[in-house]
Amino acid sequence: MRFNIAVLPGDGIGQEVMAEGIKVLKAVGQRFGHSFQFYFGVVGGAAIDQYGVALLPETLEMCRACDAVLFGAVGGPKWDDPKASVRPEQAILGLRKGLNLFANLRPVKVFPTLVNASTLKREIVEGVDILFVRELTGGIYFGRPQKRWSTTRGRRAVDTLAYSQGEIERILRVAFELARGRRRHLTVVDKANILESSRLWREVTEEVARENPDVEQDYFLVDACSMHLLRRPRDFDVVVTENMFGDILTDEASMLSGSMGMLPSASLGQGKRGRGGRLTFPTLGLYEPIHGTAPDIAGQNKANPLAIILSVALLLRFSCGLDEAATAVEEAVNQVLEEDYRTGDIMSPEMKQVGTVEMGDLVVSKVQR
Ligand code: NAD
Repeated sequence: MRFNIAVLPGDGIGQEVMAEGIKVLKAVGQRFGHSFQFYFGVVGGAAIDQYGVALLPETLEMCRACDAVLFGAVGGPKWDDPKASVRPEQAILGLRKGLNLFANLRPVKVFPTLVNASTLKREIVEGVDILFVRELTGGIYFGRPQKRWSTTRGRRAVDTLAYSQGEIERILRVAFELARGRRRHLTVVDKANILESSRLWREVTEEVARENPDVEQDYFLVDACSMHLLRRPRDFDVVVTENMFGDILTDEASMLSGSMGMLPSASLGQGKRGRGGRLTFPTLGLYEPIHGTAPDIAGQNKANPLAIILSVALLLRFSCGLDEAATAVEEAVNQVLEEDYRTGDIMSPEMKQVGTVEMGDLVVSKVQR
């Protein structure tokens, strides 16, 4: 099969890790007999320097016409002025909005070989395998009114947390579908003891849960969930939540694995509807490592490329429907780690330290086998 992939490396180590992601995709193509056509675009700080904006309309159009988007990272000290009207992260926001990407998936999996990289105890993190599903286009980051004004008693500001039934239903359907493909347990995280929008989430959950009786489902208040994530993270399978709670909880959970350089993410748009109103994959998605541009190590062949390589595995699974190829990439990463190869960020005594390019080559050699 042939797939069109939009490639947006961005800035800093985004450029370096992207080269390794592409190498792995090419190796997958060779081994499984698929062809990947790459369409490159400039985004973030690089685009600001070249075109004066973080994302060109033509780049967005190109992404729309592709099967998937592979994204590196954007930003850096050069473009860090918070008052600037043009900022690198506008590229990500523009892509999310322009491609209608409403479901952010963040798997947090602790590789057996890396349990010691976590700041938490081995017996807590061993075997952790959680899939977070964060709603990405609604909630308090986008609700109106959002403003600030002056009164006789000082300044005031307001943000609005709003959700519609439709927005809640579509993200829940994705979450139930994903739970069905895993351990069939879905946790809905909210603040239903305080927030009206959370009570609507619960009501809609009950309705969607009736369509999915084969998936066990429970609720957690966000404060309790943040505690349990550190106390007994192994008990979670799929966790679905609204935009801001998801933003915070996924960062907390990323620390279970110990390194930013290991965590992939996917942002998915509306899939084609299958029978019974269920979402079906493949669907258009944007895939990126969760880390940033790491200015402190950029250009030194030190960046860990495994997060983008694991993002490639998600791309194969969710946008190309190539499950076997996706698993092959994940197994290749696991094998390289089992053979004790490490980049600096996950290095420990007795291990063999390698750079970005060497790590990419090692994964490619395992995929080719
Ligand atoms: P960062 O993720 O870039 O770096 C945090 C720390 O983790 C640094 O010490 C870095 O060296 C290390 N690190 C990150 N990725 C690594 C990798 N693959 N291998 C080894 N070490 C790695 O976060 P930051 O320093 O807060 O931000 C730097 C820039 O990146 C900022 O301009 C920020 O806005 C941007 N950023 C972009 C994205 C994105 O594009 N999605 C996400 C986060 C931050």
